[in-house]
Amino acid sequence: MASTLHLYDTLQRKLVAFVPRDPARITFYTCGPTVYDDAHIGNFRSFLAADVLRRFLESPLCRLANHGAGRSKTPAAPEHGLQSRATPEPGSDSRATNRTVIHVMNITDVGHMTDDAAADGAGEDKMAAAARRLLDAKKSGKLPPGAADIDPTDQLAIARFYEARFKEDAIALGLKVAIDAGAARGGDPTLMPRATDAVPGMIAVIKRLIAQHNHKGQPYAYAVGPAGTQTVYFCVQSFPPYGSLSGNTLDALRSGEGGRIQESHQAEKKHPADFLLWKSDPTHAMRWKSPWGEGYPGWHIECSAMSAARLCSPHALTGEGERTLSPDQLAAFIVDDAQPIIDLHSGGEDNIFPHHECEIAQSCCAFNATPGAGDLARGLYAAHWFHPRFLMVEGAKMSKSKGNFHTPRDLIAKGHEPAAIRLELIKTHYRSNANFTEQGLKDSARMVERWRRVTDAPHHDDPDGDEVSSSEARRVVRRSVAEELHNDLNIAGALGALNGWLGAITGAPTSHDAALLRDFDSILGVLSLPRPAAASTSLGLFAPGLTADPAVIALLEQRAAARVAKDFKQSDTIRDQLTALGYAIQDAPNGKVEVRRA
Ligand SMILES: [Zn+2]
Repeated sequence: MASTLHLYDTLQRKLVAFVPRDPARITFYTCGPTVYDDAHIGNFRSFLAADVLRRFLESPLCRLANHGAGRSKTPAAPEHGLQSRATPEPGSDSRATNRTVIHVMNITDVGHMTDDAAADGAGEDKMAAAARRLLDAKKSGKLPPGAADIDPTDQLAIARFYEARFKEDAIALGLKVAIDAGAARGGDPTLMPRATDAVPGMIAVIKRLIAQHNHKGQPYAYAVGPAGTQTVYFCVQSFPPYGSLSGNTLDALRSGEGGRIQESHQAEKKHPADFLLWKSDPTHAMRWKSPWGEGYPGWHIECSAMSAARLCSPHALTGEGERTLSPDQLAAFIVDDAQPIIDLHSGGEDNIFPHHECEIAQSCCAFNATPGAGDLARGLYAAHWFHPRFLMVEGAKMSKSKGNFHTPRDLIAKGHEPAAIRLELIKTHYRSNANFTEQGLKDSARMVERWRRVTDAPHHDDPDGDEVSSSEARRVVRRSVAEELHNDLNIAGALGALNGWLGAITGAPTSHDAALLRDFDSILGVLSLPRPAAASTSLGLFAPGLTADPAVIALLEQRAAARVAKDFKQSDTIRDQLTALGYAIQDAPNGKVEVRRA
């Protein structure tokens, strides 16, 4: 078992020790949502896996392998020091940290194409698609709440609408980066930068890619077309490591493997896999002025620009605080070839190609002195690539047409509480295809209840004079949970150890037990989520998230009267009426009727 954190790195294709350059300032970038629709639970599985990793890095339970000399001027964090906050027990092997994780997640609010895998940006513009959907919803009277005032032709307004909903969902599920970025709560909004705010930085990076050359004199990017209406492409042949992350080769990409290459754009490109950096299009709804014409950036360039701008702050490295680099600073920013630009990068596995492959090429070629040369044939940008696998739903790929498509807000509206949804989405190893099921969600809800009984119970310390063995049990479980998480964030193993320990507690849990569980939960992020209150009336107990609808209350009263009169036919009819209204009911032992969304 690993005694320090080891993670599978997609680029190296093996488990390696995670060694940040400066443990006092670990830089972590996650590709965030495209805000043209509500994020679904598959998106959130990936975001939450990154969140658990970030929380573990911040936990005293996490130990990191010795780091080499960093480029930072900030003194390295001592690996020994503070005791764990809640459980100062003799024999504890927890080491506190003064690690800080600077976790950034972008908001993609520029319109990009629905066919993102295409090197040219083929398909329909996603924001335009959102506008069309909203217009259709307006006509059919099925607008999402709060969308009535949105002008369906205003793409920025649509992006803001879905961005706000994403942040609500993310905060409801305990995504720390969204909580920390919450400006209303005094947070730092620069932790969730918007692509539309970062276009000048992207232009600065594209200019560098055009101006700079590799050791063979090839420019990294080139513009084609008449002045003022040019398209800019990245030249994949200028960067030999292109393909290292995904295992693609330029020859395979040249032959159009996977149908990624669109014929219509081939004539103007040097290689079929050359990808879009800037598209001049004076008719596009979102457009900016640039040296190549009025238009919009390619999708990939936003993450290269935003990750460097927010995470490579020289002010932070000199102890002057966190800043976002200006476009001018981005135009001059250089990283030693042998140093990764950031420590950790995550995204869904569908981001590996082309998105992350393209990010590596852009970032190395823009910010390294001799990118891709010598020993750096892999192309360093992030020291570690973390890619959670897809989520299946009831054993099948999630799709709207199959009816197994869920968003967190749908599940919450059906009466499932966020703590159970979060646990269900994090409890499978991030590199396994998790299977989201209704039964699994109920099991997670029961697990949350069991944990709450431990933290809520009145604690009588040393109740039966057996504190020595109870303390030993905590020492053992603490070590087991840490070992599991050090081993490629094996959360399933950690939960097994945790639940095994709880199951073996005889008698009432002590305050030490409760404190240790809360310590574990600082990584899991489940118990700290607010518990939604259940609305209760004299007849109905409404699931958390449901309001006591007067129409439902009236039907429950009629049904109670029918049951008193032993008119079970009428009682069944009323149940059917409730089903038609979208409610499922169940008679509870206390005489009340539990009401959930059907
Ligand atoms: Zn990205």
